[in-house]
Amino acid sequence: MLLYLKSKDLLCEARERLTELGLEHTFLPQTQVFELKADASIYAPRVIKERLEEFGRIEGGRERTPLLDLLPARHEVVVKGRTFAPISFRNQAKPVWIAGPCSLDEENDIRENAKRLSGLGVQVLRGGAVKPRTSPHEFQGLGNKGFQILAEAAHEFGLAAVSEALSEADVEEAVRHLDIIQVGARNMQNFPLLKKLGRAGKPILLKRAPGSTLREWALAAEYLLSEGNRDVILCERGVRGLERELRYTLDLAGAAFMQERYSLPLVIDPSHATGLKQILAACTAGILAMGFAGIMLETHPHPVNALSDSLQALAPADFAAIADRFLRPAAVNAIDKH
Ligand code: PEP
Ligand code: MN
Repeated sequence: MLLYLKSKDLLCEARERLTELGLEHTFLPQTQVFELKADASIYAPRVIKERLEEFGRIEGGRERTPLLDLLPARHEVVVKGRTFAPISFRNQAKPVWIAGPCSLDEENDIRENAKRLSGLGVQVLRGGAVKPRTSPHEFQGLGNKGFQILAEAAHEFGLAAVSEALSEADVEEAVRHLDIIQVGARNMQNFPLLKKLGRAGKPILLKRAPGSTLREWALAAEYLLSEGNRDVILCERGVRGLERELRYTLDLAGAAFMQERYSLPLVIDPSHATGLKQILAACTAGILAMGFAGIMLETHPHPVNALSDSLQALAPADFAAIADRFLRPAAVNAIDKH
């Protein structure tokens, strides 16, 4: 992006504004032009132009995510259903709690789960029906007939249901039963799937691929918007870093950037990011302090029996301890304020 300074007298003031905006810049004195690195900014090109137009003419500054950039600050996604109160996902507002097992299985009574979690103040029940497993020899899930099983359990106890549509073939069944459709980390750049979900008319939880940049994640969301779906919730679930003790690296700074730059509600999933149930209470404290729109945790009635992600699943008592510390007080405060 180029800023053609309209008068030499404005040089100091323009420099100050550029520093305030955190914009990398070079001044070319012969032409009185500032070269700006607007591409790597936390501000949308439109915002940068508004903040600089008093100093002169501005050229360039390609809009890569024009649809995302049109969303209002702290865009709200409201999930509605006949059997539960509307659920608002919005950054810097009351966080939504999503919890449940990694996958549905014959052993795990999802009704029991729904009852327990709804009693603790959780609003959304999760549970994978079609599972993206690293090995083809591992449990692949119940199949998309599980969407109905999950939704019935969730709805009976006043919860919304979220589950992953693994391929385009799952979308119809997902739309029929689920309240939120998850795009799994491995599918973040499955563009035909994103396009189909963009037309699905249901809120989408878009997980970040572990090897993707923030820009690529934003562009995946832009795909959903480009087909008309503005009900997009981002989900950070860890990226691939140097770490070996933890499953992935939870990129909270990246998530903070995303809430500031793109205004979509953002949910954090520390279960997959860490793979370590022992540190989930600490992570929850940090996540809630940062004002994200929600948190997603895996919990299983009998982790030993879980057919996927058994080691990271919180046992009911451990989940209840986290909820008692962080969820119920918030619920009580919210009631007090009204
Ligand atoms: C999940 O939420 O169960 C899941 C498979 O997550 P991810 O796509 O983030 O690995
Ligand atoms: Mn899992």
